[in-house]
This record gives sequence, structure tokens and C-alpha cells, in this order.
Amino acid sequence: MTGTPLVDDALRADLHDLYRTLHAAPELSMAEHATARLLTERVEALGLTARTVGGTGVVAVLENGPGPVVAFRADTDGLPVAEDSGVDYASTARGVLPDGSDVPVMHACGHDTHMTSAIGLAALLARDRSAWAGTFVLLLQPGEETGAGARAMVADGLWEHVPRPQVVLGQHVWSGRAGTVEVSTGPAMAMADAWRVTVHGRGGHGSQPHTSTDPVVLAAHMVVRLQSVVSREVAPQAAAVVTVGSFHAGLKENIIPSEAVFTVNVRSLDEDVRAGVLAAVRRVLDAEALASGAPPPKVEELYTFPLTTNDPGATATVTAALTGALGADRVRACPPRMGSEDFGFLPESVGVPGVYWFFGGMPDAVVDGPEPVPVNHSPHFAPALEPTLTTGVTAAHAAVMAWLGVEAAA
Ligand code: ZN
Ligand code: ZN
Repeated sequence: MTGTPLVDDALRADLHDLYRTLHAAPELSMAEHATARLLTERVEALGLTARTVGGTGVVAVLENGPGPVVAFRADTDGLPVAEDSGVDYASTARGVLPDGSDVPVMHACGHDTHMTSAIGLAALLARDRSAWAGTFVLLLQPGEETGAGARAMVADGLWEHVPRPQVVLGQHVWSGRAGTVEVSTGPAMAMADAWRVTVHGRGGHGSQPHTSTDPVVLAAHMVVRLQSVVSREVAPQAAAVVTVGSFHAGLKENIIPSEAVFTVNVRSLDEDVRAGVLAAVRRVLDAEALASGAPPPKVEELYTFPLTTNDPGATATVTAALTGALGADRVRACPPRMGSEDFGFLPESVGVPGVYWFFGGMPDAVVDGPEPVPVNHSPHFAPALEPTLTTGVTAAHAAVMAWLGVEAAA
């Protein structure tokens, strides 16, 4: 199949227009209203049956006779990032976060490339129905960045509205070389847990620290002590991350505040490691509070992301399909990434294998150039339209056809 112009000039031009439109108008997680409307129009125009599931989620089905059922997922949300990519279709959109703050919005994670590739995939399937048989289920999932969207779709009865698939597939653009793809077997992306920790002290005058319990000093000890959880308590062969990404306390240098608040992010690839790290974090927080004579801190769970696991059998099928479509020199096996995704929740919720791979978005000049390559979530992250989008469509199509293609079924 290598070299077959699956994506012809007319489709490519249409997808470029769609990509620029999506890129210029990103929306925040679980607020993807206009995006959902646009995607619904596009899939209905292709002959798919669409419905809204889980707020701003859209699920679309294309039936083509008896055969396997394959689900393909693309996420749809943008991020609160002020775009500084220099492209002429850059976003100037703004949105409102759940806390009420008005923020700039950008497709800084490249979910616009996912949606565009998914529409390209649907267009190819709709165009040539003689090449495949079965049912294609397109999951256009909101709220990936907050870990809310996949759960919202499932909680809203996703699998009651669409046929149950044999496999759920998905892909993500990354800062690798455009035109290439990477696939892991087994763990593909980490579990993540985020906690907000409120440290209780006793406020007072900065000149009389002995009459107060200083939550700044206490919380600082907690943050430092947490750094040794991974280095001293996790086996060197295992992977884990503990990051304190925000820390807030106090208003003025001569006032000892009554509380400090920080957030902790924990990543792991294994359920036992995860449980051990979370227990150690909790133990450190409680013990440091005790050491300072303060009450135990309040710990709130902000979100949790499941492990993204690539089923070995289904991954072998996908890898063979990607290699057939793109050529062996453009498909690479890769180790797990410590980033996180809620994709895994979709196959898990219906008890079937999932496979999730990455496609590169950066042109050769950027990858090989002297400057650091912009990564996902950066204000400079701007995938090259080509060969990124054609590769995204081709990879998605090849993987889906490994189950639905009439040759695959024969
Ligand atoms: Zn992201
Ligand atoms: Zn993403």
C-alpha cells in the first residue's frame, strides 16, 4: 500500500481548511460547543449518524453490512494557553475556566490534528464502502485535558447508544518528526493522580513566630521531603514522578498566614508503584504536619487518569498495518511516555483491547535545527500541516482497516 494516494488533493485541501478553522477556534475542556456542532455537521455530511453524548461529546456511526465493529477516538479540547506560534491561523480565542477566570485558549496539545485526521478517516471510509465491511464508530471526545471527557461519555450511556466495538483505537500528535509514527506495546502512557493539599497553620505576626504555627515553613518541608519519595522508595527499575507544580501562601512578609496550598502530581506505570507512591506522599504530609505540631493537612483529589495500555495482540495488528501503509522506516517501537491520557478509560469501560499510537508533527528543519523543539502544551506548538495530517489520516485508516478491510476479514 506504500505510496497509494489514499488522501487525494481534493480531500487534502478540504482537511487543511478544516484544520485551520479548528485551530483558530479552540474551546476549553467540556466547553467544546461550537467544535461539537462543526464536527457533527461534517460527519453527517459524510453519511454518518451522529448524536451528542456526555455534554459536548459526539459519537458518529457508519454501518456497512455485517462485520467487526471498530471504534476510533479523537479528542476535541484546547488548553488555556496564549498562542505564540506565528502561524497565520493562530488562535485569538478566549474562554472561561470553571473558577471563572477569563483565559486565552489554544489547541496547544494538537487535538485539532486529531479531529482533522478523524474526519479524513471518516471521509475515506464513506468514499469507498466496497473496501470494507462492518461498523465504524467515531468517538469525538471532549475534556481530555481535565480527564473528564471519556468518563462523561461513558456515564452518559455511550455504549448503549452505539454498537459495542471489538477494539478501540486512538492517536496523538507529538513533537517528533512529521511523517513518522511511534507505538508502544503494553504500557503506553502513565497513570496520573493530582491532589490539592491545604496545610493548616496558625496565623500571627511575623515578629512573633513562637506564637504561631508557620504553614509556609511546614509546607516547604513537605515539598522538600516529597522529593525523596521517588528517589528513596521506588525501585530503580520502576518509573514514577512526583511533582509539586503550584504553591501558594501568604500575602505580606510580616504576616504569618494561617494556611498554605500546593498541588502534587504523581505519575506511574504500575498499580503497585502508584499505590506505594500515593501512600508515601500521604505519610509524608501527615508526618510533617505532626512534626510541626499542626493538624493533618486537607488532601483533595483533583483528577485521576488511568494507565494507557496497548494490548499486545491488537498492537501487533496495528503495527503491521501502519508499517504496510507508511513503510517500515516511518514506524518505530517506543518506550512508554510519562504523560497521561483518559483514552484508556474507553476500551476499559467496555472490556476490549485498546491501541494508542503517536504521529509526529514537526518538520525536518525544526527537528534537526539548533533550537529546542516545541512540545505539546507549549505556546509555540504548531504542527506542520504536511506531512502531519496526511500521516494522521493514513495511520488511522490503516489501523481501522486492519479490522474492517475486506482483505483483513477474508
Ligand atoms: Zn495535552
Ligand atoms: Zn493531548
